[in-house]
Amino acid sequence: KTAVRRKPDWIRVKAPTSREFAETKKLMRSKKLHTVCEEAACPNIGECWSKRHATVMILGDTCTRACAFCNVKTGRPMKVDPLEPLHTAEACASMGLNHIVITSVDRDDLPDGGADQFVKVIKAIREMSPETTIEILTPDFRNKPGAIEKVAEARPDVFNHNLETVPRLYPTIRPGARYFHSLRLLDTVKKVDPTIFTKSGMMVGLGEERLEVSQVMDDMRMADIDFITMGQYLQPTPRHARVDRFVTPDEFKAYARMARGKGFLMVSATPLTRSSYHAGDDFAKLRAT
Ligand code: SF4
Ligand code: SF4
Repeated sequence: KTAVRRKPDWIRVKAPTSREFAETKKLMRSKKLHTVCEEAACPNIGECWSKRHATVMILGDTCTRACAFCNVKTGRPMKVDPLEPLHTAEACASMGLNHIVITSVDRDDLPDGGADQFVKVIKAIREMSPETTIEILTPDFRNKPGAIEKVAEARPDVFNHNLETVPRLYPTIRPGARYFHSLRLLDTVKKVDPTIFTKSGMMVGLGEERLEVSQVMDDMRMADIDFITMGQYLQPTPRHARVDRFVTPDEFKAYARMARGKGFLMVSATPLTRSSYHAGDDFAKLRAT
């Protein structure tokens, strides 16, 4: 157990109070949907939900893994809800979203890791809201043959999978995952369909060195990854990995410059950046250019 460190001024966020926030919450409850915004205790929830931007977390609220940085609960997972694709599509339509981000817990217990549910959700949204662009943020589907290909063939607009940290820190921070497997996943998506934008992200402040971050960016570009997100790791509870340090806003700017220099099409690197933070706005801007 490690006491949670006091956050610097640049990380403080406003408490959620708006009417839109309350409405987003009500909608998610009425459709029985989970959101990563709540389950991961995301610091941006006030801002995002006020703009009716929520990230739906499918396949239940219980994960089969226990990453050292993640607040989602671990344990015996829930049964897959056959109505989840329909409910997700209905929530998307009723919020009138231009862009939706769908993620899930890790389901090592399912034979396809949950790939089929991702496909069904993508299809249901396409049917009900053909204009909405779809971004998925998937688990690694490790040891589930054909899962990545199946999801890519459903043609989401953006396929996101986070590397989370530098390879040296995987054994402590992401013990259930393998760095090169995650990289290969995104490489595979591009090979299945080069028109899908691929995206990945990492947290900083976990003890990584600048040179290691630069190497991760190079690895991402080698796998043809288009978009990168970088944000400060925040320790959700005393049971989680401790913050090694708070990376300053200027250092984030330097990382953003580094990433642009390496040729990423879209770069988001600020202390409060999360995979899905401003995802819709950024994607719309990119499509307009
Ligand atoms: Fe939800 Fe993503 Fe916004 Fe956080 S950044 S509140 S996870 S949409
Ligand atoms: Fe959290 Fe994903 Fe790790 Fe599960 S696999 S504990 S949801 S980061």
